[in-house]
Amino acid sequence: MTQRQRIAIAPSQLQQSQILLTPQQLHYLGRVLRLRDGDRFIAMDGLGKWWLAQLTGEQAQILETLSVETELPVTITLMVALPKGNGFDEVVRCCTELGVTCIVPVISDRTLLNPSLQKLERWRRIAAEAAEQSERAFVPTILEPVAFNTALLSTASPQKYICEGRGNYPHFSNCLPNKEQITNDQGLIIATGPEGGWTEKEIENAIAANFQPVSLGRRILRAVTAPIVALSLVTAACEV
Ligand code: SAM
Repeated sequence: MTQRQRIAIAPSQLQQSQILLTPQQLHYLGRVLRLRDGDRFIAMDGLGKWWLAQLTGEQAQILETLSVETELPVTITLMVALPKGNGFDEVVRCCTELGVTCIVPVISDRTLLNPSLQKLERWRRIAAEAAEQSERAFVPTILEPVAFNTALLSTASPQKYICEGRGNYPHFSNCLPNKEQITNDQGLIIATGPEGGWTEKEIENAIAANFQPVSLGRRILRAVTAPIVALSLVTAACEV
């Protein structure tokens, strides 16, 4: 696919084969990207659709639907215990680039942060920007923060893993199916802990909810690094 400028649009902006552009989008296309009438760009709805569009005044004409093949063959839900400060921004950005489907910010026994509504909006904005820059077809869903024990109970997938740096657990990469075996039954769920780690009780509860404890290697990773490493291992298993 030719490299073109891309913008995210809301599905409600589509009217048959026209895109009704917002003043902000017009400013971005005209002033920032310096596109003129007749120039082409890519519009993406974050729900799997991309179109080649042509700027015509305050609207854009859809020329064709584009096929995008940047998504992983399996849906991945990450349950990430909220790290300190702005660490979660980095988790959202990097994991979106790596192909995550859904991120659940979880409040665990040792989580120090209780995030505001503005934080959630910020994470959703970061996910949209990262999806756009990494040419994803979908913008990952960022759910509202939830208590870890509640999150454990709302998981249907048979493939569930909890990352734990201590203990003699199998390496995550040895638990993953390879490219030929991978199926998207109900996807894959991965949980990673906060700076202080999971409590014993949390690990017990996760095992009772059919989570398999796994290792990400011999070194203790930061709470921000662990989900990125876990996701990288999944992408390697699916794509290499
Ligand atoms: N304070 C904890 C300790 O000393 O064991 C370390 C917690 S670590 C900074 C944060 C989280 O990252 C952990 O709860 C775990 O989910 C994940 N993690 C870090 N290193 C890991 C490893 N080598 N294997 C599996 N998970 C790891």
